[in-house]
Amino acid sequence: MTEANYIIEATYLVASILFVLGLKSLSHPDTARRGMIMAAAGMGAAVLGTLFHPSIHSYLWILVGMIVGSSIGIPMAMVPMTAMPQRTALSHAFGALAASLVGVAEYSIRGSHMGPVKMGALGFEVMLGALTTTGSLIAAGKLQEFLRGTPIQFKGQHIVNLLLALTMVGLFITWLMNPGVPIFFYGMIATALIFGVMLVIPIGAADMPVVMSLLNSYAGLSSAATGFVLSNNVLIIAGTLDGFSGFILSILMCKAMNRSITNVLFGGFGATIATDTGATGTMREVSLDDVAVQLAYANQVIFVPGYGMATAQAQHAVRELGNLLEDRGVSVKYAIHPVAGRMPGHMNVLLAEANVPYSSLYEMEQINPELPSTDVAVVIGANDVVNPDARDNPKSPIAGMPIIEVDRARSVIVLKRGKGKGFSGLENPLFFKPVTGMLYGDAKSSLSSLVQAVQKV
Ligand code: NAP
Repeated sequence: MTEANYIIEATYLVASILFVLGLKSLSHPDTARRGMIMAAAGMGAAVLGTLFHPSIHSYLWILVGMIVGSSIGIPMAMVPMTAMPQRTALSHAFGALAASLVGVAEYSIRGSHMGPVKMGALGFEVMLGALTTTGSLIAAGKLQEFLRGTPIQFKGQHIVNLLLALTMVGLFITWLMNPGVPIFFYGMIATALIFGVMLVIPIGAADMPVVMSLLNSYAGLSSAATGFVLSNNVLIIAGTLDGFSGFILSILMCKAMNRSITNVLFGGFGATIATDTGATGTMREVSLDDVAVQLAYANQVIFVPGYGMATAQAQHAVRELGNLLEDRGVSVKYAIHPVAGRMPGHMNVLLAEANVPYSSLYEMEQINPELPSTDVAVVIGANDVVNPDARDNPKSPIAGMPIIEVDRARSVIVLKRGKGKGFSGLENPLFFKPVTGMLYGDAKSSLSSLVQAVQKV
């Protein structure tokens, strides 16, 4: 090994250790920020080490690439928290595109002289990379509402997708048997690009986090395959970590929704709106002053945030109200459902941004036993995650999904703008229960008004 090789391998080793430690730290909110810094430092070390590669004769194009990449990456990092899911989808698309382009470049430089194992890894990398690129772009388009968010379905879709998948794999195998014939290789890429689109269009926007973490795992596996082709250890390690953590996250999200991964990928959830849930009656509207009195004289208040808190950017107003109530001696807790919002950890991130202490956040299993002894449960723009039909109605499309059982509290106040449904498109019987009072309006302005009203009580 040359001196440069020693430097490269040493930095790759440091980078790999930082990736593992970073990932471990991300598993707890207290250490998550440190985990992000470690992972970013690991990536920095990996990039730095690569710059010592003896085959680099000029840094000009690398510099140009860094300038272009940074000028895209820095503005992308500045997007508001509500746009984070689509931003992440775009990052996956770029990562997968990079892996595919490396594969195409390697094939055009080294041709078919790589040996069957490396050729197989290269084909795998390019195929997964291509379908992840277009799949992630469609996911980003749906989340940003450039494309229709509801599932786009047509008759015979599963057959078409199956045929595309078979053609793609068939071309891959044919190319492996005839590596000197580029048409099979480029045909496989074209089919994979189309397959990526077709795979994601039938999936609804709110299922995108599951799809994205799956695509993330494909992008990771594609990078690991790139590592094999380039004999690059850090790519193999980082890609494998990425691939499997993405897969585990997808499974965990499905579990929290009580759905199978096949139902998410092929179920077209949200395409049809189920209407007959038996939830009828009138919704009882309550006044701001009534709610303020209830909150001010309560012993315990539990806030249950959902997607509406994110869209209203109401996290700071919630914390302000929470602090005010605590100053009055009220016990205030925040109940976090694992799939509240539109991405894993959505509520945790928003509440952390508003400086709500981690010790005040309670997971669903911890908080549910406390609800019967709670005076007021305040639902802030949440809907599906507090829908009692999931528990009580076996015929409901969301039957079996674990919920935060706010209907067991002594009083429930729901903050939402009107009669809008949640992601599932289902009516929520909670809103018709005698225990529930509806406080209509944008969550942020309702909470700010409540702060003022509680101050006057
Ligand atoms: P939700 O069921 O989507 O309901 C959100 C509610 O917020 C709506 O009913 C809406 O009613 C209200 N809202 C919207 N904007 C508002 C505003 N500015 N102020 C006040 N209220 C507002 O949300 P959720 O209870 O958080 O449930 C999340 C759903 O996403 C679940 O079905 C879950 O399975 C799904 N999902 C989540 C993830 C994840 O990773 N988190 C992944 C996949 C799927 P109005 O229009 O009347 O205001």
